[in-house]
Amino acid sequence: MAYHIVADCITCGICINKCANQAVYLTADECYAIDPCRCTECIDLPKRRCHAICPVGAIQPDPAHRETAAQLWAKQRTRRSNVALDQP
Ligand code: SF4
Ligand code: SF4
Repeated sequence: MAYHIVADCITCGICINKCANQAVYLTADECYAIDPCRCTECIDLPKRRCHAICPVGAIQPDPAHRETAAQLWAKQRTRRSNVALDQP
């Protein structure tokens, strides 16, 4: 499942540049959020980078976006392909 940012967030901004998939973003009302279409749970890494770095534990699994490992791997492959295409 994707991760999401809960109400405990203190808007420190540390997490926004930690996601390799650019899933963390700042909303129009200056709250931090995670795009579930981009979040792969860091399935290719030993730990979830945003979750590991948040000082107040405000990044948690989102039960509204449950996915299997196969689905996450498929999303990861798509995300990394898109990142590669974005690069000069
Ligand atoms: S869990 Fe990983 S992929 Fe998902 S938002 Fe956090 S850093 Fe990005
Ligand atoms: S690191 Fe945690 S507290 Fe800081 S902006 Fe991200 S979710 Fe909010």
